[in-house]
Amino acid sequence: MAECIFCKIIEGEIPSFKVYEDDWVLSFADINPIAEGHTLIIPKKHVRNLWEIDEESLTAVHLASIKIVDAMRESLQTTGVAALQLNGEGAGQEVDHYHLHLIPRLKDTPPLPVARWKITPGDMDKVAGTAEKIRSAIR
Ligand code: 5GP
Ligand code: ZN
Repeated sequence: MAECIFCKIIEGEIPSFKVYEDDWVLSFADINPIAEGHTLIIPKKHVRNLWEIDEESLTAVHLASIKIVDAMRESLQTTGVAALQLNGEGAGQEVDHYHLHLIPRLKDTPPLPVARWKITPGDMDKVAGTAEKIRSAIR
């Protein structure tokens, strides 16, 4: 995709700090890190989101994530790693090339805002009704 920033990174037209690469995926440091070690993994094939990604690319991204979180644990002594993936404008996706964020958590760093929300019990009729709506649309 000519105008896609991440395709340009794959092609080497935009530089990146590479962490890992194989035939299917590229992983590199996020240049606006929300935390130390914030890393992205992308499929080499241009797909925008979970609605478009093929099984091979999705599998390859997530298998690569295991290697990278292992390396983060060893090199950064992580206390945890958040894996975050956004789909579509409404979810806050800014770059329209599928990507998985890996955000290391280190000792004495504050919780990520996305990982700590106020726990409030839902209206069970609504919870059940919406689950049923989704269930009945599964293909
Ligand atoms: P999104 O909100 O789409 O899930 O996240 C896109 C991510 O891509 C952001 O965290 C942003 O910092 C990162 N990003 C945007 N442009 C570039 C770039 O040119 N190079 C790198 N390494 N990361 C980028
Ligand atoms: Zn792309």
